[in-house]
Amino acid sequence: MEAIRKEIETLRKQIEHYSRMYYVYDTSEISDFEYDALFRKLQELEAAYPQFDDANSPTRRVGGQVLDKFVKVTHRVQMGSLADVFSFEELDEFLARVEVSAPDALYSVEPKIDGLSVALTYENGAFSFGATRGNGFVGEDVSGNLRTIQSIPLRLSEPLSFCVRGEVYMPRERFYAQNEARLRAGQPPFANPRNAAAGSLRQLDSKIAAERGLDIFIFNLQWGDLYLDRENPDSHFEMLDRLEQLGFPVLPHRIRTRGYDAVRAQIEVLGALRDALAFDIDGAVVKIDSINTRALVGEGAVTPKWAVAYKYPPEQKQTKLLDITVQVGRTGVLTPNAVLEPVRLAGSTVSRATLHNLDIIRERDIRIGDTVVVQKAGDIIPEIVSSIPEKRTGKEKPFEMPRFCPACGSAVTRDVDMAAVRCPNELCPAKRARAILHFASKGAMNIDGLGPQIIDLLLKNGRIHDASDLYSLRVEDLEDLERMGEKSAQNLVEAIDRSKRAGLERLIFALGIRQVGEVAAAAIAGKYKTLDNCFAATVEELCEIEDIGEITAKSVVEYFARPQSRVFADELKAAGVLTERVFSPHGEKLAGLTFVLTGTLPTMKREEAAALIAQNGGKVSASVSKKTSYVVAGTEAGSKLEKANALGIPVLDEQGLLALLS
Ligand code: ZN
Repeated sequence: MEAIRKEIETLRKQIEHYSRMYYVYDTSEISDFEYDALFRKLQELEAAYPQFDDANSPTRRVGGQVLDKFVKVTHRVQMGSLADVFSFEELDEFLARVEVSAPDALYSVEPKIDGLSVALTYENGAFSFGATRGNGFVGEDVSGNLRTIQSIPLRLSEPLSFCVRGEVYMPRERFYAQNEARLRAGQPPFANPRNAAAGSLRQLDSKIAAERGLDIFIFNLQWGDLYLDRENPDSHFEMLDRLEQLGFPVLPHRIRTRGYDAVRAQIEVLGALRDALAFDIDGAVVKIDSINTRALVGEGAVTPKWAVAYKYPPEQKQTKLLDITVQVGRTGVLTPNAVLEPVRLAGSTVSRATLHNLDIIRERDIRIGDTVVVQKAGDIIPEIVSSIPEKRTGKEKPFEMPRFCPACGSAVTRDVDMAAVRCPNELCPAKRARAILHFASKGAMNIDGLGPQIIDLLLKNGRIHDASDLYSLRVEDLEDLERMGEKSAQNLVEAIDRSKRAGLERLIFALGIRQVGEVAAAAIAGKYKTLDNCFAATVEELCEIEDIGEITAKSVVEYFARPQSRVFADELKAAGVLTERVFSPHGEKLAGLTFVLTGTLPTMKREEAAALIAQNGGKVSASVSKKTSYVVAGTEAGSKLEKANALGIPVLDEQGLLALLS
């Protein structure tokens, strides 16, 4: 046994060493093949000898832990924030204030990574846990997800105890690749790398976090000792050097310098580097290097007086506005979109920009053919800031909103109180396509793989007319569509089938009623319990619900008063879509289990119980066999219950079923 324990230990050390060299120091000491062999060997040994389990084993880096929720963690040292400055004048004021108590101070100038701040705690040389910043005092334990970040060392070469702060980020390449994949799968893209990193780090399933390919830069020692036999240096910069030596991925492009001019020059250097970096930065941080001097300068009420964050202005570029196209939204609103001569901006190529509405185009005097200034202010969709009238040739054309819908030719209408221009045609194909796309979207019925192109093709070929027709599609209807193979057709049909059990909350949201978002939809489902009941809803009743105001209430009543809404609801019901409320959120708690339902349950209908089981990953079978995991029995249960007892299969009542889920 001792020999096995040693072998496991050695393998873990070897693998950690090689992955450290690869992920932090960019050197491969062994081939991928050899590395994989070591990794597999370790996985096999760990599976065979679970008594030697270790949360810091490199095999944990692939994820696998699934949580119900994150545990709150109180930070031993507050994770503070810095004051921002937006100009060199403001920066000079900061430096002048520091000079009063610390003349000729030495500064560390560092890039400010645009990501998510975390604190990593090590005990006796092993990674103990990691938490998000939260409100600075209390964050969330996201250790499982942090372990999947390859560059975070799980064991150190010395038994040290300390806490470091770092910024988790998604490298740009990963971000673009992820967004392309998401768009292909019909999922909404991440707005920017920071949101992508934050969303990934807060996944309850660490496997998802592992797939996202996050990385981290360490930028501060929060507390603890970096040496066994001597004190920490009095220099922040030297502490970072030491952390690098211990195997941490420490902030790159940092320098230590003194004097206004040198600090300013380094900020300019970082600003010029910005576009070429593999990660997003949104500023430069200037801090006093000496910890003792920091104490001398002191802390402010909210932010320290010894450091400041210089924020770069959003990057802007000039390009040509080639055309303005008009898109018809789900509710019929026409939105103008700019077609640009492609230009490189903040690390990506931009060829489209939003123009919001006609008033903004007028206000900014933007004409087709103009040279325009575009910027990306944190979000992925760039915007046109202004036109440059001096560059006009006289051939530029002012934009007019079309008087007829570009998709169906109906005369458009203009909202009385708003700037919006709409296509009033209920049968407009563009509105239909958008409505179906919304119906299938993630927060709604969540039909994976039903993207805009497929919807357009299905509508064009007359295979569907509205979302309820999706449920009668067969594999044969799909597989001869362009770019759709048998396998993906099969998957899509299964995804459509699964969506029948999405539940009333999601279904109401999926209807695309104006003003009704996910929160309002859930509130309505909670009150009315079935889709049929919603048809009798009144404005007064709806207004009693928290989260629902009068405008929303009116819009809901208006929707259910339309005859075609009744037809649509009946079609969905006929297709087998669940139109009643189920009790629990979705999950995988019942994965791998098979249930048989029998008798009358006290509060749930049999189909509700079945939906609940399916939503949580379980299977419902019609007959009891040795493979049945549980029989759920109500009153007047018959032969199925007898058979379960004969085979020794556990029997649950409704409460018991709910207990499995709680
Ligand atoms: Zn139209």
